[in-house]
Amino acid sequence: MSKPDSKLDKYAQRDRLGLWGTGDNEVVGSLSGFTRLLDKRYSKGLAFTHEERQQLGIHGMLPYVVREPSEQVEHCRALLARLEQDLDKYMYLISLSERNERLFYNVLSSDIASMMPLVYTPTVGLACQRYSLIHQNAKGMFISIKDKGHIYDVLKNWPETDVRAIVVTDGERILGLGDLGANGMGIPVGKLSLYTALAGIKPSQCLPITLDVGTNTESLLEDPLYIGLRERRATGDLYDEFIDEFMHACVRRFGQNCLIQFEDFANANAFRLLSKYRDSFCTFNDDIQGTASVAVAGLLASLKIKKTQLKDNTLLFLGAGEAALGIANLCLMAMKVEGLTEEEAKARIWMVDSRGVITRDRPKGGLTEHKLHFAQLHEPIDTLAEAVRKVRPNVLIGAAAQGGAFNQEILELMADINETPIIFALSNPTSKAECTAEEAYTYTKGRCIFASGSPFAPVTYNNKKFYPGQGNNSYIFPGVALGVLCAGMLNIPEQVFLVAAERLAELVSKDDLAKGSLYPPLSSIVSCSMAIAERIVEYAYKNGLATVRPEPVNKLAFIKAQMYDLDYPRSVPATYKM
Ligand code: NAD
Repeated sequence: MSKPDSKLDKYAQRDRLGLWGTGDNEVVGSLSGFTRLLDKRYSKGLAFTHEERQQLGIHGMLPYVVREPSEQVEHCRALLARLEQDLDKYMYLISLSERNERLFYNVLSSDIASMMPLVYTPTVGLACQRYSLIHQNAKGMFISIKDKGHIYDVLKNWPETDVRAIVVTDGERILGLGDLGANGMGIPVGKLSLYTALAGIKPSQCLPITLDVGTNTESLLEDPLYIGLRERRATGDLYDEFIDEFMHACVRRFGQNCLIQFEDFANANAFRLLSKYRDSFCTFNDDIQGTASVAVAGLLASLKIKKTQLKDNTLLFLGAGEAALGIANLCLMAMKVEGLTEEEAKARIWMVDSRGVITRDRPKGGLTEHKLHFAQLHEPIDTLAEAVRKVRPNVLIGAAAQGGAFNQEILELMADINETPIIFALSNPTSKAECTAEEAYTYTKGRCIFASGSPFAPVTYNNKKFYPGQGNNSYIFPGVALGVLCAGMLNIPEQVFLVAAERLAELVSKDDLAKGSLYPPLSSIVSCSMAIAERIVEYAYKNGLATVRPEPVNKLAFIKAQMYDLDYPRSVPATYKM
């Protein structure tokens, strides 16, 4: 600590000596008042009191009025309401997050259910499509293939040193929109804003990253506004070495316990990179594992209605990609926990891809290693309808992005075979959903249990109102991340996603189920995240995976103490008198 300088006034001396505390909930003493006014982390906007304005030397830089934080939130919401286009609302919210971070998170928290679609899907899809046009502020890091050999040095440019969570994409499969290259940055930015809004992970500890390895999308390569590298995608050894260097550079810069979430990588890379890194890095893939967890949570909740276990059911999947295979793998694990052998469990899981049912000697081929894992010994079955007739599933799960694939015939067949068929139409966006909620209830005569990937409005059938639940990954990934970070886990076993699914299913109330919803209301998502995190922290300590010592006695209190404080920090010490 440096010595006080007698020529400086007492405020400046305190600033120099850093007496005003550090950390996210206290302001750093060496910052000038002007910085506190303009820096997103410290700014309070009109909520600076007159006393604070004078003490910080920013008096006169704000209009006279002092607003309560709640009034600021109302003001922002009023401004949002004036905007007609969702993309404009997205841009307003992003610019707010750059001006006053706490106000941004308070606005999100004021109505999670209606704000989430503005900062994440579906609006983030529009934002990514126009990202080159709307990109204004430096947000997150773009690391291009040209940085190969220097990724650690690039990471050192990030101003925060205590980064705990990275969400990374290479932009190759952004939502259902395909290869958007560097424009995919909207995804890590959006996901990490949900880390904070839904699980209280401090924004300063979150780092969105886009790995720009080029794009194969012609329209982007030709777009004069495109912000990314104007080259075709790097592939093969070059790509693999780049990703490998990135993973090691992250650990070198931010530590072994820095969580790296993979997001929207194309199918083959997603599976390959997950199996390559899952045991030696703190990493997971939300498209595969987060989706699996939220879907299995919905299944476990639906079995409460049917009063059966997962092992008592036969599952038929339409699709065998990241989502479907992830769910199938987690179902396999859950059935084994319920007492089945691997072979017995596999016999209950059937998958249909674009070439028909996945069977071992399928003449049409197309069997990757991951699909072969679920290949049945059976004569070829070409169509979904034929598969439903022959396999007689209790549960039908769609994740093939084939809008309308669960047509009247399929849904009626499911209702013929089952008293209470379980129908999950998980494909996004809504136009890709295998069926609508209304079709599911109508063609099964109101007997099905339904969940979807996209939100559907309540449906009235035969005078009964059903509230279909949305299997939104946001129920899972923020809570998983919070638990993993609080326990200081160094890798994330698959079991964690089953633990999360079981905990989420427990949180579904009898009222939710009676209404036909397999998930708790979106408004309760922060408490879901905390409950999931608590269970994961318990799991981590029980299984020797936690590195944070000593083990906290009250784990929930420990988790809460780590979370971001939505209240503004004190700008001047309470005891400090002028
Ligand atoms: P993917 O590209 O990895 O997989 C798509 C699969 O569908 C492939 O196996 C493909 O063979 C199969 N398919 C294509 N055409 C088919 C056809 N005509 N008949 C049968 N199968 C066919 O994609 P993904 O990441 O698995 O995503 C699939 C869908 O699931 C997307 O719409 C995505 O939005 C949705 N999804 C939903 C959630 C959620 O609800 N929480 C989460 C993740 C993904």
